[in-house]
Amino acid sequence: MDPLLRLQDFSAAFDTARGLAPAVDGVSFDLAPGEVFGLVGESGCGKTVLSLGILGLIPRPGRISGGRAFFGGRELTAMSQEELRALRGAEIAMIFQEPMTALNPVMRVGVQLAEPLLLHKGLDKRQAEARCLELLEQVGLPGPRAVLRAYPHELSGGMRQRVMIAMALGCGPRLLIADEPTTALDVTIQKQILELLSGLAAERGLAMLFITHNLGVVAQTCHRVGVMYAGRLVEVSPVEALFAKALHPYTQGLMASLPRLGSRHERLTPVAGTVPPLTALPSGCHFHPRCPFVMDRCRREIPPVFRPEPGREARCWLHAEGGRA
Ligand code: SF4
Repeated sequence: MDPLLRLQDFSAAFDTARGLAPAVDGVSFDLAPGEVFGLVGESGCGKTVLSLGILGLIPRPGRISGGRAFFGGRELTAMSQEELRALRGAEIAMIFQEPMTALNPVMRVGVQLAEPLLLHKGLDKRQAEARCLELLEQVGLPGPRAVLRAYPHELSGGMRQRVMIAMALGCGPRLLIADEPTTALDVTIQKQILELLSGLAAERGLAMLFITHNLGVVAQTCHRVGVMYAGRLVEVSPVEALFAKALHPYTQGLMASLPRLGSRHERLTPVAGTVPPLTALPSGCHFHPRCPFVMDRCRREIPPVFRPEPGREARCWLHAEGGRA
């Protein structure tokens, strides 16, 4: 199947007083229609900049610094801002961690939900209202008429996130980018929202790029996962294979920090050290100062992408025997 989204050596950077700081460095992956791809990593690893780059929304002084991105065969990286805006309104939608940043606090939910339907879908007011009620029902909001009349602050966090999902689905997008959509919610609501998103993706054949720092969320939601570290995609794998055996030492560290079922007293083992600042990235493999398996070569040479198993990638010299991709 042709990919819906394709990134080829995609890079983004920020201009700083100390030179160019690479936030995303040579990232390549495909996303098929109906596929949920999780992008995981600690804060500051480049996940959000990558997703904003796809949408043409990197704030200045950031910019796309190399590579290409395609959506449905069209090159996003060659589009004008106007073309990107049209695509964002209709075919690519995004939901964020905190819906209050995306919802206007002084406008009723119904007005905000109807606006893109009036603008992009050419519906009249009565049709837009009917469609809004339908959307709110689809995302499991009880009393949709009351929700339409409410202001965002009158809704709970979980309800607001459902409104955001309804808004994202309104124009029938083919790609949904969800950036930490459940991080601000309590565990029960988080589970409900994850189930809702997975169900909607499966029902509608919607491709989803799911950004999270939480591997547990990936296990519940995604088909494949990409692990980012300091701007680079260091591992790509089907989710089951990753949980059976992670290939990259950074992923192994993240897995070791996950709480295990039935072992309430087990201490978590965090990955020692911190993500380096963009302006002072280590040479060679960016993970080498934190890696328990570091070799001389790792400090000098950037590991290329190796494919030690079908469908799996790891940017790590430990897999050099598996053959260079
Ligand atoms: Fe560790 Fe070297 Fe692999 Fe980097 S390339 S993750 S430092 S073993």
